[in-house]
Amino acid sequence: MYPPPVQRLITELGKLPGIGQRTAQRLAFHIMRTDAEDANGLADAIREVKKRIGLCEICFNLADEARCRICQDERRDAGLICVVEEPGDVIPIERTHEYRGRYHVLGGALSPIDGVDPEDLKISELYARVAAGSIREVVLATNPTTTGEATALHIAAALRERTPDVAVTRLASGLPVGADLEYADEVTLGKALAGRRAL
Ligand SMILES: [Zn+2]
Repeated sequence: MYPPPVQRLITELGKLPGIGQRTAQRLAFHIMRTDAEDANGLADAIREVKKRIGLCEICFNLADEARCRICQDERRDAGLICVVEEPGDVIPIERTHEYRGRYHVLGGALSPIDGVDPEDLKISELYARVAAGSIREVVLATNPTTTGEATALHIAAALRERTPDVAVTRLASGLPVGADLEYADEVTLGKALAGRRAL
């Protein structure tokens, strides 16, 4: 159909989430029309994140050094850990300015049907962090979806057993059910944080 380089671009774009065959084709044609500078800029940006960005050794947020900016910040409350599913969930919580603790990024949510079990997420690393001491509270801010709720309940039960002195809280209701945290507006999310309840 298309010359092999074009077909390759369409195939690669089609691997992106939410991009079907038709959209992949449209994007490929757009890239081919774009001038070389912009097209190479895109290719370079992809190469650079793959080369320079890794996960923070403490919280597994995105980092361009061993530790992310938040873990490096001494002013952040080290006694408070907010647990989120993805690095993208840190941003909306930061935007609320309601939260001054640290984070723990799981890398997803438990979903046995999709083959996502506790050992596929950074859950044992969380337990180790909490067991190491000086943590007062763990705020479970996984998404208000079926998998997010299941993940929160799983972690809450384990923490109660392992570290009963540490408070475990969940964001207050008011967040749109079934939606992802990253789509919540900062006022709603700020209220949900301020009104968090014990689990
Ligand atoms: Zn970190």
